[in-house]
Amino acid sequence: MEQKVVLITGCSSGIGLSLAVHLASNPSKVYKVYATMRNLDKKQRLLESVRGLHKDTMAILQMDVTDQQSILDAKRNVTEGRIDILVCNAGVGLMGPLEAHSLDTIRGILDVNLLGTLRTIQTFLPDMKIKRHGRILVTGSMGGLQGLPFNEVYCASKFAVEGACESLAILLQHFNIHVSLIECGPVNTDFLMNLKRTEASDEALEVDAHTRSLYDQYLQHCQSVFQNEAQDTDEIIQVLHSALAASRQPLSEGLSGGN
Ligand code: NAP
Repeated sequence: MEQKVVLITGCSSGIGLSLAVHLASNPSKVYKVYATMRNLDKKQRLLESVRGLHKDTMAILQMDVTDQQSILDAKRNVTEGRIDILVCNAGVGLMGPLEAHSLDTIRGILDVNLLGTLRTIQTFLPDMKIKRHGRILVTGSMGGLQGLPFNEVYCASKFAVEGACESLAILLQHFNIHVSLIECGPVNTDFLMNLKRTEASDEALEVDAHTRSLYDQYLQHCQSVFQNEAQDTDEIIQVLHSALAASRQPLSEGLSGGN
């Protein structure tokens, strides 16, 4: 049986790494996984997780979702010349009072979470459309469904991804392409450590005392939620895996919907 070719973004840690390992370890070798990451210096963790056993089921490629050329280079390095399953997973958080973020910081978050997802889909979608075949999985967030204090920019990026995916899903059913958005709550990964955070204790933080005190409380609450209630990546992988196995929705006749 022909292997399904999967490309995953953001595989240096967390959900992307776990999904890459899970699919590449499939005993029937059903998947060929292209595990991509923006910085190949970080590939050791992934290699240790697969214990070097999966040369025929996994390849590691450099890909930065903010860099169009690196996405095109990754595409060119897929030896099968096609992607059956695209997983847009790369993402980064931003926490702090909105007025404390520079516009450059805000742009940076949108560049990864929103534009990075759109760039990646744009690059691989035309081939999927021609072949009338494909699956797109996106790691969204509960923060794309409901607002969270001190997460305005992150939530805005994930709400936007939500809108883009829902819109694409309507059209792409006409091309036999299935779009799934997985809205994770807190997950035990490096996400909290990696997110860009304004420290409440930062004396240079120019916000009013009330905001500072609420932010301080929020950070403590957040630490406790991640410590006590976060899901393990295994649970998220099961959800992603069942999304891969899910049967397609019946095709509706035409396009509908308004603004
Ligand atoms: P993570 O361990 O921090 O992983 C994030 C991954 O994204 C890393 O591999 C990171 O690479 C990569 N990345 C960041 N910027 C990138 C770029 N420009 N190009 C390519 N890759 C880039 O966190 P995670 O929890 O696995 O996050 C995965 C996804 O799940 C994200 O989209 C996140 O928003 C979403 N999510 C996570 C949670 C949670 O609680 N963990 C909850 C809801 C949604 P580097 O190592 O190079 O930074």
